[in-house]
Amino acid sequence: MTPLVSIVVPFHDEASGIDMFFAAVRPVMDARADVSWEVVCVDDGSRDDTLVRLIAQTRSDARVRVLELSRNFGKEAALTAGIDAARGQAVIPMDGDLQDPPSLLSPMLDAWRGGAEVVLARRSDRSRDSVARRHTAAWFYRLHNRLSKTQIPENVGDFRLMDRVVVDALRRLPERQRFMKGLFAWVGFRTVTLDYARPLRAVGRSRFSGVALWNFALEGFTGFSTAPLRIWTYVGAVFAALSLLYGGFILVHTILSGSRVPGYASLFVAVTFFGSVQLISIGLLGEYIGRIYMETKQRPIYLVRSTYTAQTPHASDPVLSR
Ligand code: UDP
Ligand code: MG
Repeated sequence: MTPLVSIVVPFHDEASGIDMFFAAVRPVMDARADVSWEVVCVDDGSRDDTLVRLIAQTRSDARVRVLELSRNFGKEAALTAGIDAARGQAVIPMDGDLQDPPSLLSPMLDAWRGGAEVVLARRSDRSRDSVARRHTAAWFYRLHNRLSKTQIPENVGDFRLMDRVVVDALRRLPERQRFMKGLFAWVGFRTVTLDYARPLRAVGRSRFSGVALWNFALEGFTGFSTAPLRIWTYVGAVFAALSLLYGGFILVHTILSGSRVPGYASLFVAVTFFGSVQLISIGLLGEYIGRIYMETKQRPIYLVRSTYTAQTPHASDPVLSR
């Protein structure tokens, strides 16, 4: 009996790349005689032919399974769905656009067979990214790791191998807002890192815009650190001390040289400045309260409409009989 390895792939509107994806992954995995494998595909509410093409893959290869989510839940939720469904002794989340090179699968499996519980794939060079994206990424990691006890390794995405013990640990984290990079880092375990150069997207385009990345970063900060909440105690203390000093200065100055009526400018600046500081801190409170609110609803992270395997009869297939 060879151990089973599950490759988990979220797909959202990737129809044009699917056949290419399987053509690239299949030979690499077949070349490994020491493992058997399955691919768990998650169709994350695609509006194109993604689902039909994935189902076609299950017909020609019994090792392919497809989970169809009821709508687009986002990559993090789709990954969670796939990881929950994976049966392997090792699980490898992978993008469906071939930006996570299949050639790395074999070295990852070697490291796992050698005793690693987590094998990370780190992008050794981001030179193909725009200057802005490279810098914001660097700032994000620096700030996050300064604020949070959970250290996220730099330039590491979701592409990694996890042993079953790690997957089971991950599945015990119940949060609804899933910042996978952070959750992966939080569970820890014996880790080995491999470097690779990230290729450009095979086809199609990235779904992560500037705004999406900003929200993603906010999710990371608020999910793994309360420092942004606590900082306001100290900001408040510093300004209280400063205003006390200034108050003393005015008092002494008034006693010595009488009352000065002018002061419109300093008053105006103080009022607007403290007003904005308070709004910022209230906004930050709102970020956390909003997240508490979402968590307390206890909604499921994803909903599966149907599952497709090689055994799924055509007749019960809503997509193919449509
Ligand atoms: N993806 C998904 N749901 C989404 C957006 C993306 O399942 O709402 C999948 C997408 O199909 C791809 C992977 O997540 O397999 C990475 O997406 P993308 O290539 O757009 O991100 P990038 O590589 O630019 O970070
Ligand atoms: Mg991509």
